[in-house]
Amino acid sequence: MKKFIEERAKDIPVLDEVDVLVVGGGPSGIAAAMGAAREGVRTMLVERYGCFGGVISQVGVEGFAWYRHEGTVEAGGIAAEFEEAARLMGGATKECQSESEALDAEMFKCVADKLVLEAGVIPLFYCFASEAIVNDGQIQGIIVDGKSGRQAILAKRVIDCTGDADVAALAGAPFTKREHLCSVTPLFNVRGVDSEKFQNYIENDLKPTYSDWRGEWEMTTNGKEDDMFSPYLVAPFRKAIEDGVLDKEDDVDYGGSYSTVTKEGEVLQLNAVFINGVDCTDVRDLTSAEISGRRAVLKAIDAMRKYVPGFENARLRNFGMTMGTRESRQIDGLYRLTKEDVQNQARFEDSIGIFPEFIDGNGVLWLPTTGRYYQIPYRALVPREIQNLLVAGRAISGEIDAHASFRNMSCCVVTGQGAGTAAAISVKEGVPAAEVDIKKVQKALEKQGVRVF
Ligand SMILES: Cc1cc2nc3c(=O)[nH]c(=O)nc-3n(C[C@H](O)[C@H](O)[C@H](O)COP(=O)(O)OP(=O)(O)OC[C@H]3O[C@@H](n4cnc5c(N)ncnc54)[C@H](O)[C@@H]3O)c2cc1C
Repeated sequence: MKKFIEERAKDIPVLDEVDVLVVGGGPSGIAAAMGAAREGVRTMLVERYGCFGGVISQVGVEGFAWYRHEGTVEAGGIAAEFEEAARLMGGATKECQSESEALDAEMFKCVADKLVLEAGVIPLFYCFASEAIVNDGQIQGIIVDGKSGRQAILAKRVIDCTGDADVAALAGAPFTKREHLCSVTPLFNVRGVDSEKFQNYIENDLKPTYSDWRGEWEMTTNGKEDDMFSPYLVAPFRKAIEDGVLDKEDDVDYGGSYSTVTKEGEVLQLNAVFINGVDCTDVRDLTSAEISGRRAVLKAIDAMRKYVPGFENARLRNFGMTMGTRESRQIDGLYRLTKEDVQNQARFEDSIGIFPEFIDGNGVLWLPTTGRYYQIPYRALVPREIQNLLVAGRAISGEIDAHASFRNMSCCVVTGQGAGTAAAISVKEGVPAAEVDIKKVQKALEKQGVRVF
């Protein structure tokens, strides 16, 4: 049986009081804070680590819009600003499979600082949200833990952008969490690669396409993707396992994509090790995944040295700061996005932005080459039961087949910008977040450059 102790009641200092408090500084959180601050309300962005960027800067994912092809229709807004700001600061290079920018994961820390400060957001690092302050079903702030001890931050509206819906769960908002969650990945970068030899192997021998994804996973496309180039390495790992060179553990899968190859001999964003059976809201699971993940990465590099031309002298450059997690809690919102919605161009009167018909996960890969897109309803961001709390990013309300689409970073930015703008307008109008005049929100978003319909 689980053992408990009673926590001693004590007074907690109030660190600040703001209009809109955004918790979690990933793609959705940055956008939520910028959206709110641009509407002229006092906005704070709280983050547990020492940089903003979430999965981009903490895990090392560069492929912000790797789905984009001629014909893709999308929301613009702050998502477009991320790419443009990174490009202007020298923190982006052309992404190899799409019409987009690969964001340099380290430089993005500086890009995010600049965007957040220029928007007038109050930044706060090294604060982990560990409690929600709720009275009569209304959220009134959070308690954070950190080097300065336990402190309260009070707010008129709170936006949970933690990816894991931590604040919503702490506040008692209902959520779902599947028993078998998507795998987690220790992303890594290598150096010492003969870039020319590697590129030659990719272009002339391996010639990888999206159809190579089949075999590792059950995967359906709608046909148009099959022959398109995908920077994907699976054959070398398969051979290493067959030859007994790579000793594969049961809960680990090998094979996946890379992003940038630099002329300095680096291959970046190696998304090639997948650990199964991990719940990223459980610290014991996370601990064992970090350790077995690092061990698996070293084995993967060994295998690549032997089986990938150009990798003979490759060595680890770095791991991401933290394990990359794809899925945990989804809130139970006023609307739950469905598979039907993301695969059939759903339209909603309370749309806060659009996302192209891009699906990558749960056995489906569709690239948005057709111009088709769906709209995202504000209600999917509004949790049931707790007032004045909104959720943006990958934890919004939706089925797993819809999550395979809206978890993508630029969609997280769309929901973030929508949530921030709505929260700010609800403060200015003096109405609860769930009852904000959606027409006013849509107008404000369009003014901020978002395609809403
Ligand atoms: C390995 C991997 C590869 C991926 N590849 C791609 C890709 O190529 N393209 C793509 O578009 N998407 C990709 N994704 C998905 C995408 O990166 C995420 O779904 C997206 O980043 C989610 O954004 P978010 O803002 O909801 O959360 P996150 O990016 O996870 O940001 C959450 C932030 O909240 C902070 N935080 C968490 N809990 C707390 C707390 N209690 N208190 C304070 N702060 C907290 C975190 O430190 C973090 O900064 C990938 C994901 C993984 C794991």
